This record gives sequence, C-alpha cells and structure tokens, in this order.
Amino acid sequence: MTPIRFYNTLTNQLEDFAPIDPPVVRMYNCGPTVYDFAHIGNFRAFVFADLLRRFLEFTGHEVRQVMNITDVGHMTEDQLADGGGQDKMELAAQRLKAAKKSGVADVENPDDPFAVARYFEKAFIDDARALRLKIADDEAPRRPRATEHVKQMIAMIEKLVAADHAYVAGDGAVYYDVSSFPQYGKLSGNTLDKLAHGAGGRVSETDTAGKRNPHDFLLWKPDAKHLMKWDSPWGWGYPGWHIECSAMSMSALGVETLDIHTGGEDNIFPHHECEIAQSCGATGKAFARYWMHTRFLMVEGEKMSKSKGNFYTVRDLLKRGVDPAALRLELMRTHYRSNMNFTMKGLEDAHRMVERWRAAAAGVDAQSVAAGDSDVERDFVAALSDDLNISGALGAINKWLNDSPDDLSPLVRMNSVLGVLEAAELETETSGDDAAIDAKVQQMADARAAKDWAASDAIRDELTAAGIEVQISKQGITWRRKMTLD
Ligand code: AMP
Ligand code: ZN
Repeated sequence: MTPIRFYNTLTNQLEDFAPIDPPVVRMYNCGPTVYDFAHIGNFRAFVFADLLRRFLEFTGHEVRQVMNITDVGHMTEDQLADGGGQDKMELAAQRLKAAKKSGVADVENPDDPFAVARYFEKAFIDDARALRLKIADDEAPRRPRATEHVKQMIAMIEKLVAADHAYVAGDGAVYYDVSSFPQYGKLSGNTLDKLAHGAGGRVSETDTAGKRNPHDFLLWKPDAKHLMKWDSPWGWGYPGWHIECSAMSMSALGVETLDIHTGGEDNIFPHHECEIAQSCGATGKAFARYWMHTRFLMVEGEKMSKSKGNFYTVRDLLKRGVDPAALRLELMRTHYRSNMNFTMKGLEDAHRMVERWRAAAAGVDAQSVAAGDSDVERDFVAALSDDLNISGALGAINKWLNDSPDDLSPLVRMNSVLGVLEAAELETETSGDDAAIDAKVQQMADARAAKDWAASDAIRDELTAAGIEVQISKQGITWRRKMTLD
C-alpha cells in the first residue's frame, strides 16, 4: 500500500503520516465561533476535516476527532485597548432579541448570552448534519464548548505563570511572554525578529499598561462587567481566545501531543502560533505533529467573509434548492491547499457528478456490500494518500464508470469517504425559523398587493432588525440572512 503523506505547515513539506499510537489518530479541528451562522467558507474548513477523518477511517485508522465550539464572547485586543468596541456575542444577542420579537428566531432567552451561543451552535450542528459531517453525530464531548472548559484554561494559565511564560500586567490582565518561547514563529514564519521589523512592531500608547511586548497575547482578561465571566486567581473575567483551543484539545483528547491539528489558513497566525507557544510552554512537549490548513474559499477573487457581505450560509443555499451532497462535493473537490472559487456553475457540475454516481449505485444493495478491494479503490486510495489529492480520486472514479463496470459495489464503499450518495433529509431543529421568515415575507407581499406600503415597510424594518435582508424585484420578494458581525 502506498504510504500516506500529508503536507505539514509546521515543516513546510510533505511528510509520511504515522500516528503516535496506531491505529488511533487524535485530531483536533478549530471549530465555529457561535455568535452567527457559519458561512460556506467556514464549512470548507470543516468539510475538509471530515474528508480527512473519513479517509483515515477508510484506511484502517480509528479517528478520535474533536471540533470545538467557540462560545465565549471576545472583544479583539484592539477593541479592548481602545477601551471601546462591542463584544460580538453582545451584538448577536441584540440581533437575536429583534429576531425573537418579530417571531423569526426561536431562541429561548436572547438576553442570555449562553442561550444565544446555544442557538447558533444548534444551527451549526443542523448545517453540519445536512453536509454529512460525522462530527455532528458524535457524542457531545467531541464538540467541547469553551465555556465549559474555563477551569482547564485557568489551570494552564497558572502553569504558564509559574513557569515564567506568562505575567500579570498593570491592570491585572495575564499575558503570554512571547520572548520566553524561542520557537515562536516556527509555524507561521513570523519570528519575533521579523515581527519587530514589520507593522505593529511597537507597544502602542493604548496598550495595557505593563504589557512588555506588542506580540505578547492575552491569556486572561479581568472584566467584572463582561457578559460572560468566571472567577479566577486574577479576578472575575474571561479567557483569551487562543488558550481555549490549547486547553480543550488536550482535555478532550486526553493527551498532550495530538496527531493532527487543522484550521483555515487564517488560523496559522496568530492563533495556532500562540496555541503552540502555550501548549509547549505548559507541557514541555510537542503540541501537534501534523498541522494542516485549508486555503480560503473565495468569491470573485475575495475571501468569503461575514464583514464583506459576500457570503452564503448552508441553510440559505439549501433553501434555494441546492442538494446538500452537491454542496459537500463542491466544497471538497478543490484541493484543500488551493484557493477555491465558489460559483453556481461549479455547484451545478458537482450536482451532475453526484446524480451520475447515484444512478450508478442505484442497483447496488448497500446492505449487502462486503468489504472489497478493486483496482478503482486502489487508485482512489493512492490518490488520497498523496496529500488528499481529491481530483485524482474523483478522476479515478469517473474513469472507471466510463467503462461501465458490472460490479458497482466499490462505489458504495468509496462513498464512505465521499458521503454524497445518500439523499438529503432536510428537516432540522432550526429549519422552523425559515418557515417563520417565509410567512413574514408573504405578509409583506400581501401588504404590497393591497398597496399598504406602510404595513410592508413595517414588516421589512422588523426583518432588517432581525438580520434578514429583503430584496424586492419584479419576480417577487426574496430574503437572505445578513451577517455583519465578522
Ligand atoms: P470562525 O467561526 O470565524 O472562527 O471560523 C471557523 C473556521 O473557518 C476557521 O478554521 C477559519 O479559518 C475557517 N474559515 C473562515 N473563513 C474561511 C474561508 N473563506 N474559507 C475557508 N475557511 C474559512
Ligand atoms: Zn482554535
């Protein structure tokens, strides 16, 4: 069998993959921030993690996958330094309050930031399930919540302070001292030397008093007024973003060195660089052996992001009739280390491919498919073993199908990696919200038909406050969720 090779961001090269404790593979994926719906760019990173897991399972590994839920509200350090800014979780709470009032979101208590986070967590799991991400059906501890691991974070910060990797600044905030960790910069190339010569290389006047180096990062922020706060040796407050992943990954996987750690390319710096500094600082051991990063999903040459407004959510696409399997395949079929350009045409092509496979597999009784080994499966595995060469793998399937094979059971087996043959089940816990929005939009259309412009405007304002953007055209009224909180 061909050895499995992955590109490791830590060493900038392809490496043979060997887990520490075979056949077990312990993998951690940076998961969603749940103050908004995840967009399909986020899901590109999550679908990649799912493909990686399924491929490793197909090749005989036992994968323990952990994907965290970032549910602590965070202001950025800049916002904190400015003394202003509004926490994103607070903004989400405001928007959900409006959404609840107008009946388009079923959130128990939008004044409670925990309820807001749970609402978006549920939406994430629904979308993940529609895209057949296995993590959505794993037991809850595989999706650890930051808010439920603050104790572990505090313990790690205490260790770092004791080891002189961290210090308490003038206002009581705890910072990681990057100069105490000589390997800082190994993952991203942003060594302290380079950073000192680049932008942001000085401590600004607005920085917290007593912060020693502009690249020192926050571990604990005392803030007795914060929406989400916990007691700690440094007073009531909340943890920094990076410490969450260091603490949760080790706690949920039960080891100090992980096999694989993944995220989107924007996570490389500072997030993962800081995770390494904290984790190695606290344990003295390597934190993760293989670092794998997904390049961005782009729309017309730009990164899909909430702040640019050029995003789609999974639910919005499914509402427009997109087959979730086609969306899954589309997010997956551009190699993870290439930027992917999202287009409707690409999605249609992916859909045709899925339909072709479904037609081919229709005669196969999935229940009676035995384990097997065929040329096409060998080609499929060989391609994926080469740093998840997905186009090679899909090419092998399509070429094989062109020859009209008699035995189509290999397709069913390979589908355990691809996850696209199954038909969609679209009823989800949060899909009821779409029906409520549709009903509002219908009321608006009725008001307009009756030339009651005031009533139509009132409904539109209500929807806008709830984060729903309404578009009126000759064809009728359409809506989509506006995400502006990035
Ligand atoms: P967030 O919820 O913002 O923390 O993002 C969750 C994950 O999505 C992270 O691993 C990001 O790196 C990743 N991500 C964000 N935007 C994109 C994008 N346009 N394409 C691919 N991955 C992305
Ligand atoms: Zn993370």
